[in-house]
This record gives sequence, C-alpha cells and structure tokens, in this order.
Amino acid sequence: MYSIKYIPASTSNYRAGRSHKIDQIIIHFTATEAPAYNNGVYFSRPNGETSAHYFLDGSGTIIQSVQDKDIAWHAVQANYRSIGIEVVSSGRDFTEAEILELQWLVTWKMKEYGISKSGVLRHFDVTGKQCPRPYVDNAKWQKLKDRITTQIDTQSKLIIYSYWRGHNQQWAFVKDKNGKTVIVNRKSGKAIDVANGDYTPGQQLIAYEQNDGANQDFTVKDVTPQEAVGLKISPVQADKLALAVSGASYKAGTPVILWDYKAGSAEQLFMPVIAVKVSGVTYYTLFSCGALKAGLPLCLDEAS
Ligand SMILES: [Zn+2]
Repeated sequence: MYSIKYIPASTSNYRAGRSHKIDQIIIHFTATEAPAYNNGVYFSRPNGETSAHYFLDGSGTIIQSVQDKDIAWHAVQANYRSIGIEVVSSGRDFTEAEILELQWLVTWKMKEYGISKSGVLRHFDVTGKQCPRPYVDNAKWQKLKDRITTQIDTQSKLIIYSYWRGHNQQWAFVKDKNGKTVIVNRKSGKAIDVANGDYTPGQQLIAYEQNDGANQDFTVKDVTPQEAVGLKISPVQADKLALAVSGASYKAGTPVILWDYKAGSAEQLFMPVIAVKVSGVTYYTLFSCGALKAGLPLCLDEAS
C-alpha cells in the first residue's frame, strides 16, 4: 500500500556491503519538517559521513537512501547490524500517517530479516542521543513500539457470511485517480486490500483505508464459463490470482483469499446482485457464485 522511491545516497555517506546479519532496526527523527524527498536529495550529495536507509513523512512514498545490504551511518556502534529509519518530525509526535507507514516498513523488515521485537530500538537506546525526541519518554516509546511492531493484518478480514442486508455486505466499484477499479465497502469506506502487498497464493484479503495503493487496484471481468456467469476479480498487480472462497468452503465465516485463477471455478466468481444507491454511488452485494443458493455474500468481518 506504500511505495518506495530510491534516491541513492552519495557513496561517501555510507559503507558498501556488510558481513553481520541485520538484527536491529533503529528509529530516528529528522529534527526538521523537511519532507522525506528533500532528505533523499540532501543525502545524495556528500555530507560528512552520515546517512540512513529510509526516510518517511506519511505521504505514502517512502524514500530509500541506502540499500539494506550496505551500512548506513546513523547509530555509531549499531550501524553494522542495523537498518536506520528516519521519521520526519521537528520534535512533535509522529502523525497517524507516519505511524502507519512506519508500522508497514518495520513489520516488513522484521519479517524479511527475522528481527525480533527486542531488536527494534531508538537511537536513544543505542547512544543516549535525544532521538527520536518525542519518544525518549519510555512510556510513549513503548506504546509506539507496540504499534509499529504489530503486523498490519489485524485489519478487518473479508469473509463470506450469511446475507442479512447489512451495510458491511455492500460494495461499490469506484475508479481511483489512475483509472483503476477499487472496491469500497459502504459501511466503513475501506477498500479491499491485499495485505502487505503479499501476492502469495493463499493470502487472506483485508479491508483497509483507501489510499490509492497498488494493492487496492482490481480488474473486474465478466466471465461466462461453461456453467457459471459472474465476475472475476483480480488484483492488477497479480492478474493470475483471483479472489476465491477459501478451500471452496461456502460455510458462513469462510475467509476470502487470493488464489491461482482457475477459469470456471465457481468459488472464484462473484455476482453483484442487490444494489442500493447512496449519494449517487451504487453499492452491490457481491455473492459468491458457488453459493447463490446458500446466499453467502462477500462481507467485511461478521456484522461489525
Ligand atoms: Zn537519530
């Protein structure tokens, strides 16, 4: 749901290569309100041997300055084993948008390198520097750390659930600014999202804030296989995968997952059937075609 833009740091600002495994993530603040992009440009020039791997400001685009495989100079004795992340703040608390980006990046890197929660540290923990200043307070840091080390897939899951005319079973097909289709829930306003951009077959789908992310772009095609008529709904980023009913089980409570597209499989076809119009937007109840008789529509969690 976020993108990474790489603006290579000047080679005089970091050391190429590393031999120790990455087992720490060090959080910093930039001490100015200059956007992440400006930081990327600044560190692309020689600046007296300082650097960090990532800069983020809540804009949705994270700037990478140094590659993970190289050693950035941000936390002295911890440099050789760590990834340094700088969050834009002149000293204020991180914004909600920054915390969400930080959570996404930190949980991704924890997973990628097998880093434990105890390996996520403040610059302050390493050298005693007042960084990140708003989180030098231990109670505040603990709260932030709990959030940014928790996987984002605690969002509402998409499941198949018995029809009860609930708003959380109604979906609109809307176009994002790039002309791609985003499928938005009527009740929450959240969009169907591929969790953490993970397109592995079997991945469970979630509903997440609509933010024009690539993981929220779906193609919707009419499909008329031999015995079924319905819509095939596939992520733009992974067109060979389609929304599917988990294990072809049509029991209420079955999660909706991404799976290799099999033309004609009823568990991968959805039918927009009952429509309501709210403020000019048409919402449909999306029924799984294999379950029309049972009446099981795509639903955002249960009735929550
Ligand atoms: Zn720092």
